[in-house]
Amino acid sequence: MTTTAQSGIVYLAGAGPGDPELLTLRVARLLMTADVVLPDDLVTDEVLALASPSALVIPVGKRCGQPRITQAGIHALMLEHADPQDGSPARSVLRLKSGDPLVFGRAAEEIAFLTDAGIPFEIVPGITAAFAVAAELKTPLTDRSSASKLIFATAHHAAPQPDKPARLELTPKWEGAFPPDATLVLYMPGRRFRLLADELIASGIDAHTPCIAVSNASTPQQHIHRTTLAALEDDAVGPAPVLMLIGHAIR
Ligand code: SAH
Repeated sequence: MTTTAQSGIVYLAGAGPGDPELLTLRVARLLMTADVVLPDDLVTDEVLALASPSALVIPVGKRCGQPRITQAGIHALMLEHADPQDGSPARSVLRLKSGDPLVFGRAAEEIAFLTDAGIPFEIVPGITAAFAVAAELKTPLTDRSSASKLIFATAHHAAPQPDKPARLELTPKWEGAFPPDATLVLYMPGRRFRLLADELIASGIDAHTPCIAVSNASTPQQHIHRTTLAALEDDAVGPAPVLMLIGHAIR
C-alpha cells in the first residue's frame, strides 16, 4: 500500500462526505504530497485546505457557475501531468471525488482511460455519503428485525414533455412490490421530491414508509428532514447535495 504520492501516477481517491475528519489517513497524506489535485465540485474547501501549498489545484467540477469541464478534458489533465508527452517531469496526480470514488463516481471512464493510456494508477476508497448520513442520524441501515437488504440507487427525472408529466427513472428498477425489508438509499435525487415520492409509492413502496432527506451531511450546513413518503414536501428539504433514505429501519 502506498501512502505518499510518487511521480507519474494517478490516485483515484475518495474525499468522503465533506468533513475533513472523515478522510482516510491515506488521502490526507496524499493531499500533503501530491503535485496536482483535481477535485470534483462536491469536495469541500475544508478538505482542499489540507493540500500542500505547493500543489497545483485544478477544480474539475462545476463551480461558481463555470461550465463543467468535459470528461475528455479531465483525461487530458491527467495525461498532461502524470505522463507528459513533452519531456517535462511526470507528476503525481490526486484525482479527488466526493465520498467513495467507486460509488456513483463515474470512475469507469477514468479507469478505462488510465488503463488504455498505460498510466499507473491506484484507487483509494472513501466514506460514501450513505455511511456519513447514517452516522449523523445515529440510525443503522440494516436491522435484524426490519431491514436485511440495503439498496444503493440513483434517480433522475426525465425532462417533462408538453403532453406528458415528468417521469422518474429509477436505477435499478424492481419487479413487483418493493421489498418491505429493504433500506433504499437514493443518491442524486434531484429537486422534485414530491414527484419522487409519488413515483416511489407507484413503484410499490408503502406511502407510510419513513423517509429522511439529509442535505450537506457531515458539514456545518447539514439539514435533516424526517418524514414519510406520503408527507414529503419539496420545500422542506435543504439544498444540494441531498441523500434520501427510505425504509422501516430508519424510523
Ligand atoms: N461518490 C459519492 C457520490 C457521488 S454522486 C459518494 O460515495 O458519496 C453525488 C451525490 O452524493 C449527491 O447528489 C448526493 O446524493 C450524495 N452526497 C454526496 N455528498 C453528500 C453530503 N455531504 N450530504 C448529502 N448527500 C451527499
